[in-house]
Amino acid sequence: MLKFEHVGKKYANGFEAVKDINFEVESGEILVLIGPSGCGKTTTMKMINRLIPNTSGKIYIHGKDISKENPDTLRKNIGYVIQQIGLFPHYTIEENVGLIPQLKGWDAGKKKERVLEMLRLVGLDPDVFAKRYPKQLSGGQQQRVGVARALAGDPEVVLMDEPFGALDPITREQLQDELLKLQKEVKKTIVFVTHDMEEALKLGDKIAILKDGELVQFDSPEQILSQP
Ligand code: ADP
Ligand code: ADP
Repeated sequence: MLKFEHVGKKYANGFEAVKDINFEVESGEILVLIGPSGCGKTTTMKMINRLIPNTSGKIYIHGKDISKENPDTLRKNIGYVIQQIGLFPHYTIEENVGLIPQLKGWDAGKKKERVLEMLRLVGLDPDVFAKRYPKQLSGGQQQRVGVARALAGDPEVVLMDEPFGALDPITREQLQDELLKLQKEVKKTIVFVTHDMEEALKLGDKIAILKDGELVQFDSPEQILSQP
């Protein structure tokens, strides 16, 4: 479903942040990218929505070469959750979650229904939260909204860059459990970046270990745990 073929990124200053990466993940799988700071996780992820264009190789989604697609169309089909949340402070929760459906031009009824469904899915009662603004929510609640927003446009792929990294350990574990539960319903293809192996083993169907821009291992958690 998501395929990297000899993908590389050389930045304008000549630095090669990602080198000849190859992998494929199936629809509905969670791929975890893990490795130390600076190993190329964020670069790898941002190449998927072309925030950073790759400089070699090809990336395919459902067999389509993404470099041939209109970037705006591509990004509407890719949900994105980041650590710093990134909700729009002057939009209500409902407006934030409805952003992509709005951009996709869904009619008001369908949009509203979808927003309420997404809020319920991430454990936020719409009657309580829909009309609030982001700053009236806790960090964990805001991050739930971030997940709801990323899913609302029914994307083909969801990118999550250390989405729970800034949360306290208890909230973090709670959100990990909720993500797994939610994934059973929505079955999205998710690319999840972390530097925490425990989180990777808990969430990943496939784990890609990066080191200095190279993919040094690509395995299931079971395979990784069974190694001597
Ligand atoms: P590119 O067009 O290759 O994506 P950018 O416009 O993002 O380049 O960055 C321009 C320049 O800024 C880079 O060539 C690099 O010198 C510097 N730079 C930006 N971010 C970083 C970083 N995280 N590490 C090192 N250099 C950086
Ligand atoms: P990670 O997400 O694993 O911490 P990144 O993908 O952000 O790693 O960065 C990988 C490497 O590329 C780092 O060494 C970083 O400094 C470098 N880098 C990131 N952006 C740029 C840029 N615009 N120009 C040059 N080098 C960059």
